[in-house]
Amino acid sequence: MNLQTVKYYRQGLVDIMDRKNQEFNIVGPCSMESKGQMLQVIEVATKLGLSYVRAQVFKPRTNPTSFQGMGAEGISILEEIKTDEINFVCEVCSNEQFEMVKDIASIIQIGARNMQNFELLKYVSKNFKNDFVLLKRGFSNTNLEWLSSAQYLIEGGINKDKIILCERGSRSFTSPTGVSLDFINALCAKKEGFKVIIDPSHGTKHADFVIPLAKAAMAMEFDGVMVEAHPEPEKSVSDKDQAISLESLSLLF
Ligand code: PEP
Ligand code: MN
Repeated sequence: MNLQTVKYYRQGLVDIMDRKNQEFNIVGPCSMESKGQMLQVIEVATKLGLSYVRAQVFKPRTNPTSFQGMGAEGISILEEIKTDEINFVCEVCSNEQFEMVKDIASIIQIGARNMQNFELLKYVSKNFKNDFVLLKRGFSNTNLEWLSSAQYLIEGGINKDKIILCERGSRSFTSPTGVSLDFINALCAKKEGFKVIIDPSHGTKHADFVIPLAKAAMAMEFDGVMVEAHPEPEKSVSDKDQAISLESLSLLF
């Protein structure tokens, strides 16, 4: 029984069996911003019995003048603060970025914008020695396109059970936040035998909706949730509106 399970058991919140598959709960800031920030995230994640922390040293940003991530400096900090309990999830947007994080990242993340970067998919699968690869659905991509991108990883040599698919919502004409989380897409991916997690942060774009949608994902028995959380959400350098506090993570885990 891990720490997390013990906590559920004590609080009597849910039947332990309901949570047995939620192996891939991932928390942390949109961008890694400093050593102090990451130490706080790691401390809270460890207390909650979580195993994965977002450690985003490379950020794909719409605007070229926005913060692009700490890069090499961030990687040195990660090497310094890594603990046995916590594994890092690092997004890569290029082959070079993969080479830089491959020894520190347990999970290699390929984000929505690179879901169909086929050369990156081929390179990552050919050189993959990590625990898992996390492939997010592009915000305008169909289920078939998502699964086809996963197939690139499999063709490249990654076992299907090392692939985690992440649903992060679609661009929406009707949702007040501009995005709607597509649970049906996620359920279809699950039906194909993939591990699937839900990102209620990019999937809602607003902190008020993150916890309810994360709870919905947990009730649907996905393999986990990826939640953006920050020690001081209002100071977050990226995706401030969707960041929840580290304290509020205890409402979920
Ligand atoms: C992220 O998870 O850091 C991210 C950039 O999300 P997405 O690729 O889904 O936009
Ligand atoms: Mn983000």
